[in-house]
Amino acid sequence: MLKQNFGTNTICTHTGAIEDATFGGAVSPLYVSTSYEFLDQDVKRYPRYFNTPNQEGLAQKIATLEGAEAGLIFSSGMAAISAVMLSCLKSGDHAVVQNDIYGGTRNFIESHFKSYGIQYSFTKDLSAQAFEDCVQNNTKLIYIETPSNPLLKLVDIFAIGKLGKTHGITTAIDNTFATPIVQKPITLGVDIVIHSATKYFGGHSDITAGAVASSQHHIDQIWNLAKDFGGNLSDFTVWLLERSMKTLAIRIKAQQKNAIKLAKFLSKHKAVKQVYYPGLKSHDTHELAKVQMKGYGAMLSFELLKSYDTEKFLKALTLIKPSMSLAGVESTMILPSKTSHALLSENDRKAQGITNQLIRFSVGIESKKDLIYDIENAISLSKQ
Ligand SMILES: *Cc1c(COP(=O)(O)O)cnc(C)c1O
Repeated sequence: MLKQNFGTNTICTHTGAIEDATFGGAVSPLYVSTSYEFLDQDVKRYPRYFNTPNQEGLAQKIATLEGAEAGLIFSSGMAAISAVMLSCLKSGDHAVVQNDIYGGTRNFIESHFKSYGIQYSFTKDLSAQAFEDCVQNNTKLIYIETPSNPLLKLVDIFAIGKLGKTHGITTAIDNTFATPIVQKPITLGVDIVIHSATKYFGGHSDITAGAVASSQHHIDQIWNLAKDFGGNLSDFTVWLLERSMKTLAIRIKAQQKNAIKLAKFLSKHKAVKQVYYPGLKSHDTHELAKVQMKGYGAMLSFELLKSYDTEKFLKALTLIKPSMSLAGVESTMILPSKTSHALLSENDRKAQGITNQLIRFSVGIESKKDLIYDIENAISLSKQ
């Protein structure tokens, strides 16, 4: 293929694709071998070395989308996150971690860092100053996730990249909610980008996977640990994920077009107390969103007034699914108080702004009028 600076849709469709030299088929052949020739070969290929043809092709696509030199594909988002963290942190080191992060990531840190002799501080809030306040002499990693779950708060990515460079600390971001279609943290100065590819990269709620993109130097370090942890993704799923990624940009564009319209619809609705969406002027980091995001993503949250029963509301939906996880082409809603944040006390939840009336909405690609009709109908059936 010609080497040129392809546009995003072309990268999604073609970059990293494997040519079918034997039959001229249009899509990448699937290489399922676990055994590859070694005589006269520069590369010793083996699935757990993250270097089968399909793994390398998909990693190249994701790295190119992120503006990174290299990438690795993992069996889950958590496999990617744990490998990145432990490749950056050794016994005696310290990590500065965003207060408001994915529950699984928080659990990994709180349950296991101590036994590895790794110290950590969660920031007081999401300001760059709060991150700087936590930096110690032995800090080796600053970890962020923006937009956050479920209130879609933003962290200033450029400011965090700069903070890391000033202090010589590696910075990493979980870019799952935004995707490189919406924001490219490496171009803003962050070192390592991580994805739960289970979400938008897969996009159809049928794949579990993870991905990392970074400089070749960081990828080599992460690989060195990851090959021993053994969290590689099966090549069958790699192949499926490559297929999903071809439509990433058009899916995200369709989903966020719906999301801004639904955010506006909900914010005008008399049953809705508040809407959290970075694309709304009322969002407290809307100005930052305009600078670091291209479009505002397709996740939003809203609070129903207390006179509406949220469980009744979710049960009354007929199109939007009240189901766990997010980012599929089909719209879903959850109650954070009953799912991602269920283990916190009601007071701790309140302190974070997560009330029992809060609903997180992963906006899909359905026709906007049908989503609005479903919500209107469910609201009318949930008045107490
Ligand atoms: C789902 C998710 C993860 C974890 O990914 P898995 O694929 O479930 O391991 C990490 N970060 C964010 C933001 C997520 O939404």
